[in-house]
Amino acid sequence: MVKSPVDTEVIYEGIPASPGIAIAPVHVIARGFTAPDVYEIEESEVEGEQKRFREAIEITKKQLRELQARLEDLSGENESGIFEAHVMMLEDRAVVERVAQAIAKRQQNAEYAFYAVMQNFLEAMRRIPDPFLRERTADIEDVAQRVLRNFAPESEPRHQGPEDRHILVAYDLAPSDTASMNRRHVMGFATEQGSVNSHTAIVARAFGIPAVVGLEGAVIDVVTLSPAILDGYAGKLILHPTRETLERYLNLSDAKAKVRTSLEAMRGAATDTTDGRAITVSANIEIVDELPLVKRSGAKGIGLYRTEFFLLNGEEMPDENGQAEVYSKIVREMAPHQVIIRTLDAGGDKVPVEPLTDPEPNPFLGWRGIRVSLDRPAMFREQIRAVLRASAAGKVAIMFPMVSGLSEVWRAKEMIRHSMDDLNKEGIPFDPDMPVGVMIEVPAAALCADLLAPEVDFFSIGTNDLIQYTVAADRVNPHVADLYRPTHPAVIRLIRRTIDAANDNGIWTGICGEMAGDIRLTPLLIGLGVEELSVGPQQVPRVGQAIRSLSFAECAAMADDALRNTRSQAILDLSMEIARKRYGELLD
Ligand code: PEP
Ligand code: MG
Repeated sequence: MVKSPVDTEVIYEGIPASPGIAIAPVHVIARGFTAPDVYEIEESEVEGEQKRFREAIEITKKQLRELQARLEDLSGENESGIFEAHVMMLEDRAVVERVAQAIAKRQQNAEYAFYAVMQNFLEAMRRIPDPFLRERTADIEDVAQRVLRNFAPESEPRHQGPEDRHILVAYDLAPSDTASMNRRHVMGFATEQGSVNSHTAIVARAFGIPAVVGLEGAVIDVVTLSPAILDGYAGKLILHPTRETLERYLNLSDAKAKVRTSLEAMRGAATDTTDGRAITVSANIEIVDELPLVKRSGAKGIGLYRTEFFLLNGEEMPDENGQAEVYSKIVREMAPHQVIIRTLDAGGDKVPVEPLTDPEPNPFLGWRGIRVSLDRPAMFREQIRAVLRASAAGKVAIMFPMVSGLSEVWRAKEMIRHSMDDLNKEGIPFDPDMPVGVMIEVPAAALCADLLAPEVDFFSIGTNDLIQYTVAADRVNPHVADLYRPTHPAVIRLIRRTIDAANDNGIWTGICGEMAGDIRLTPLLIGLGVEELSVGPQQVPRVGQAIRSLSFAECAAMADDALRNTRSQAILDLSMEIARKRYGELLD
């Protein structure tokens, strides 16, 4: 690991978002421009690097002056003033001196020192409330990127780029960034923004990438290449760990690996409670790449396939044939188990299905899920037909997201009936009894579960959204993370109400929100009467083992107590008490 002038241990505390330990140097990536490679230099090279920096600045100034002259010829002096401002920026002594100092102090190459100084400067500007100043950041990014291009290449390239093993530190990451991370290089990540239930965190857990979110100030303070430990269990980023800290984490890592191995031995075993209540443990997936993880996990099917992840990286939804191919592959691979395909749930913190002319003031309360599908019937029909076609390959169910009332279910079912008629006419095979379910994730749906139940074959409770809509606390906003409580009495009452309505109508209820994978809550959820838990592939073995250790009767009695309780913490404690007693060794 790299030597550093700062060698005292520094601990940043954030929110644990994906369990695991990563030990590697950090790499900080800035918003707005591309990071150059970074490498250490010797004391004797400092002057040479400072010279390279000055030269890059001079070349850039010359280019900007040429641009200015050209623009003056074309459009007069007014327009060209902007380049004058850019040149002045490069002459700002504060910036120039800070870069020269950073080269000497950090002993890192000139282009990286420049990048790091500009990154701090820009981040500080972005955090200023004045919108005029904030807007100027784009100009500065532009000039900085130009300077980076003007560094003369080193005669002997010494690579230490983000392609080495590292812990990524970023202001924020999109779910697509996480899904496309090279897991051989990214050992874990830490972000300033984000929350446990964002899709970025969900994807990190699915792939087993340790992650910590809500680390305020990290992007400004952390120096790339500093040796670090990321603790995804406790939500910490530890820079320059002492020898004792390092040893403690190596031991912890070993202990966790042992628990994993013992859980693997039970993979695929039945997940009945000790008194014989059968609970299905299935997996959530976002992209086909997760399929091998799911199969290795011993999951008894897929309880939630988030098809909106087709839209990653600005891609379009595949057409009917493209979708049918992917769905059929998953269905065949998961046989004999069921695959529940959720129709598109774009919007919220996920990508929109199409560019919106005006940004929505409240995307979570806006054009999302089934609302989008019903407004785009041609697209919806393609997806329904693709799901139906996959149902000829094995056990498939379809499920609708963000349902807030009966009429949406009627309209969606009508679309299914039409699609079935069409496929029949075209002689294309499908399962005419394909189960249809709805997600219960809007309080209106939970409160009207008795009206919805006669219309469908199952309920799957999406607690990520159900919690946010019930307590009115955005699931991705760290400022209200404290209010976002899975054991809030209102949430558990809605879960119970949903299950009661399902039981009265002879249908089953599962949970596919992140709550399902939190083994502190397994006793409560089992006690409330859920019959299926669909969790990230990494959580499947642990949740399965938790269920095998529980008595349904004990959990049900506790859940009745919990429903009479008034405080979220007390309800969590009740569930934790059983969890600790029955499988303390599995808890993190
Ligand atoms: C949920 O809301 O709990 C859910 C499973 O759906 P998503 O996280 O994709 O919104
Ligand atoms: Mg949801």
